[in-house]
Amino acid sequence: MARPVRFNVHPIKADPKDNITYANMPDGFAGEGFFTTTLSSVVGLARKNSMWPMPFATSCCGIEFMATMASHYDFARFGAERLGFSPRQCDLLMVMGTIAKKMGPIVKQVYLQMAEPRWVMAVGACASSGGIFDTYSVLQGIDQVVPVDVYVPGCPPRPEAILDGFMRIQDLVGQESIRRRNSDQYKGLLQSYGIQ
Ligand code: SF4
Repeated sequence: MARPVRFNVHPIKADPKDNITYANMPDGFAGEGFFTTTLSSVVGLARKNSMWPMPFATSCCGIEFMATMASHYDFARFGAERLGFSPRQCDLLMVMGTIAKKMGPIVKQVYLQMAEPRWVMAVGACASSGGIFDTYSVLQGIDQVVPVDVYVPGCPPRPEAILDGFMRIQDLVGQESIRRRNSDQYKGLLQSYGIQ
């Protein structure tokens, strides 16, 4: 006898057309049967919709990130559900929580193990500025050891704020020229952190 199917059936029939969002087309020139654009735009489009975050969570902000990953906020909607716990596979370092000065070199080591292009997000007041811990032992912001692309305020930031910060990262990634990482300006930025 067949088992009655009760699960995974929604009473309202969903039309996939209403539930799938397509990535916006980059600027370009379209004609009948063809579309041209720049290589940077296409690479940026692919990169921004397939980020692999590397979570570096040390305290309470990490719990907010877990909520962001869960079904209600669903980080996977942004193409970033694949968290990599090996920095060598990731392109977005998300630092969430209080970073002690002793931990600073570890954050930098993780950053160095990531391949270019890589981006960094400081999630919450502690990672951005040391937060309420203006003490001898706490790093007053991870930008003292690695360059940061986006800062997310809050103690802790709500999941909506983390998602907003991630979308700002997507804006940067989508607009970045593929030549930027070879520019003198970028090399100078890394050198100011003692990174070759
Ligand atoms: S910013 Fe606030 S919530 Fe986040 S790690 Fe620091 S103390 Fe915890």
